[in-house]
Amino acid sequence: MPSLTPSTADEGYFLTLPPLGNPAETDAVYQRMLEWHLPPHILSTVKPRLSQFAAEAISDQVNAWIGNAETQQPYVKSRNVWGARYDRDRLVTSEGWKKLGKWGLSNGIVAIGYEDTFGQHRRIVQHAFNYIYSAASAAYSCPVSMTSGACRLVRHHLEVPQDHPFHYLYSRLTSRDEPWISAQWMTERVGGSDVRNSETVAVYSPLPSKTGQFGRIDEGDYLLSGFKFFSSATDCNVAFILAKTESGELSLFVAPTLKRIVDDNGKEKEVTNGIHIHRLKNKFGTKELPTAELELRDVRAHIIGPKDRGIATVALLLNVTRTHNFITALSCLRRAMEIAKGFARARTTIDQPLWTFPMHLRTLAQMEVKHRGWMHLAFFTTSLLSYADHGFPSDLPSHYKPLAESTELATLVLRALTSTSKAVICKSATLAFQECQEAMGGVGYIDEPEEPEFNVSRLWRDTSSNAVWEGTSNVLASETVRHLTRGGNLKAFGRWIQHSIVQVRNPASQETLRKAWEALSAKLDTTTVAVGLPSVLANGRQIMFTLAWLVSGILLALDAQRDGNVVANEVAGRWVLEGEGIPQEFCFADIIHLYWKISSNPVQAREIERRNWDCRIVWGVDLPRGASAGYRVQAKI
Ligand SMILES: Cc1cc2nc3c(=O)[nH]c(=O)nc-3n(C[C@H](O)[C@H](O)[C@H](O)COP(=O)(O)OP(=O)(O)OC[C@H]3O[C@@H](n4cnc5c(N)ncnc54)[C@H](O)[C@@H]3O)c2cc1C
Repeated sequence: MPSLTPSTADEGYFLTLPPLGNPAETDAVYQRMLEWHLPPHILSTVKPRLSQFAAEAISDQVNAWIGNAETQQPYVKSRNVWGARYDRDRLVTSEGWKKLGKWGLSNGIVAIGYEDTFGQHRRIVQHAFNYIYSAASAAYSCPVSMTSGACRLVRHHLEVPQDHPFHYLYSRLTSRDEPWISAQWMTERVGGSDVRNSETVAVYSPLPSKTGQFGRIDEGDYLLSGFKFFSSATDCNVAFILAKTESGELSLFVAPTLKRIVDDNGKEKEVTNGIHIHRLKNKFGTKELPTAELELRDVRAHIIGPKDRGIATVALLLNVTRTHNFITALSCLRRAMEIAKGFARARTTIDQPLWTFPMHLRTLAQMEVKHRGWMHLAFFTTSLLSYADHGFPSDLPSHYKPLAESTELATLVLRALTSTSKAVICKSATLAFQECQEAMGGVGYIDEPEEPEFNVSRLWRDTSSNAVWEGTSNVLASETVRHLTRGGNLKAFGRWIQHSIVQVRNPASQETLRKAWEALSAKLDTTTVAVGLPSVLANGRQIMFTLAWLVSGILLALDAQRDGNVVANEVAGRWVLEGEGIPQEFCFADIIHLYWKISSNPVQAREIERRNWDCRIVWGVDLPRGASAGYRVQAKI
C-alpha cells in the first residue's frame, strides 16, 4: 500500500482559481452588443477606454477599495461628547466607498449620458461603462443610478434663466471633477409602491430676501417636513423629495442636504438643511451603502416640475434609474458567472474536469442563454431611451425603423419595455445568482468581505435589492399591463412587434414568434378576457415575463441573422423554439413552448449534438476529446 500523507492546514490540496479576465475583452456577448448598437467610429473610440476601465475594475486596487467598503460600514454621529447636536448629522463612510465613487464619476459613469460627445448613442456608451463599473462598485452603482436619473429630470427643466439655480445644479450633477450625488426620497412608512398617502408636507414660505431673482439652490421657496422611511445615498449633496402642498396633491421638490448660514459671530458656515438621520438601516445586502430613515424639519426646497404633478415629474428620473438597475444586475451576474466558470475550470470531480461535465455544462449553458437574452432586452431598451431623448440616428437596424417614424410610438414602446426589463432582468438575475453560488459548491456560499474578487454571495445580496426598489416585480408588471391596455396602446405596440417579427428570416422562428404574440395579445385584450382588467392584472406577472421572452426572442433571432454567428444562432433557437431563457413558472408555458405544437420537426433530434453546442456556448470551443462522462466509468453496479 502506498504511504498516505495526511493534509495539514498548510499542506495538501488547495484549489486555485484562474484570475478573472478583463470583462471588456473576454465577454463575447457584451462585445457583440456594442458592435450591434454602436456605429464603428464610436466603438473604436470607446473600446480602448472600456478596456482600460475594465482592467481597473478587476485590479488589486479596486478590490482593496471594495474590501474596505465591505468591512468599514457606514455609521452616524449626531451629538458631541456634551450631548449637544452637531450642526449636521455626521455620516461616516469608508475610504473605499468614497474612492469607488470618485473612480466611477471621474470616468464619466454619470457624465457620459449627458455630454454631447456620443450624440444619439450617449446612453448606450454610458451603460457600456456602467456594465463594467457596477460589479466592481460595491453598490456605489446605486447613488450613480439616482444621480443619472436626476440629471435627466433637471435637463428637462433647464428652460429657465441662466441665473436660476437649476443650471448650477445640473452642472454639478453632471460634473466629472466636482460631482454632486443625488438621492430620491419617496418611500414612507405608509407605503413605497403607492406614494400617494405621503405624510410629508410642503409649505410655501419664500425667504424675505434671496440671492438674485431665484435664490441659490439652498434658498428655495418651500419648507418641507415629514418622515422618509428609505433613503439610499444618505451621503448625497441633493435630494428629490415628494411632498404634498395645501392642495393635498404630491409635487416634486429638490433640496440640498446642507444650507449656508451666518452664525452669531458673523461667520458663514454650512449646517443641515433640516435633515436629521433618524437611524441607518441594517440590510440583507448593500451594506456599504448608507440607507437611512430621515426626519425632515423645514427643509428649504425648490419645486421642480408643475405643482401637483409630482408623480409624473419624478417618472422622468425613475425611468433612467431603472435602466441602471437592470444593467447593474447583468454586470453583477456576468461577474458571478465568470467566477463560477473559473471554478469549473479549476475543479475536478470523480477524476474528471468539471468544466466538461455534461450536467454542469448544461447548467452553465442555460445560464449563458439567459444572460444573452437579457442583455439584448437591456441594451435594446437602453438604446431606445437614448434615441427617444436625443433622436434616432440614420443608420438603424430594421427593427427600429417603425419606432423611428414617430416619437409617440417610440415612447410608447420604451415605456412598456422599461418597466418590463427592470422587473424581469432584476428578478431573474436574482434567481440566477443562486445557481452560480451552487455551481461553486460550499465555497460559493462563503461571504468573506475582505476577499471580494471571487465572492458570489456579495454580488447576490447586493443585486437582490434591485428587484425591490424602483418598483417590485408585481408593481412593474401592473405598470406594464396598465400601460398596454390603455386606449389604443396595445394596437400600436402590436404594430411595432409584428413589424419586427416579419424581419426574422428563419421561418420556424418567425412563425413561432408571430403565434406567440397572437396568443399574448389576446391575454391583454380587456374587451375579450372575462372580468376585464382585474383578470388581466391577475395574470400581470405572466404577461410581463412572456412579453420579455418574446421581445428578447425577436432580438436574439435578428442578431443571429446579422452575421450568421453560429453560437448566436444556437442561442436564438434554444430561446425561441425551445422556450428557454425565462424562469418557467413566471411565464405562460403554453406560449413560450408553442413551437412544439406547430412543428413536425422535433427539436430532440439535435440532442446528439447538444452537448457540443453547450460547450461552444459556454466556452467558445468544441467539446474536447476525452470530455468528462459525468459518471464513474469503471464503477461496478
Ligand atoms: C435597499 C433599498 C434601498 C431603497 N432606497 C430607496 C430610496 O433611496 N428612496 C426611496 O424612496 N425608497 C427606497 N427604497 C424603498 C423601496 O422603493 C420600497 O421598499 C418599494 O418601493 C416597495 O415599497 P414598500 O416597501 O412600502 O412595500 P409595499 O408598497 O407595501 O409593497 C408590499 C407588497 O405589495 C405588492 N404591491 C404593492 N402595490 C402593488 C400593486 N399595485 N400591484 C401588485 N402588487 C403590489 C408589492 O409587490 C410587494 O410585494 C429602498 C428599498 C430598499 C430595499
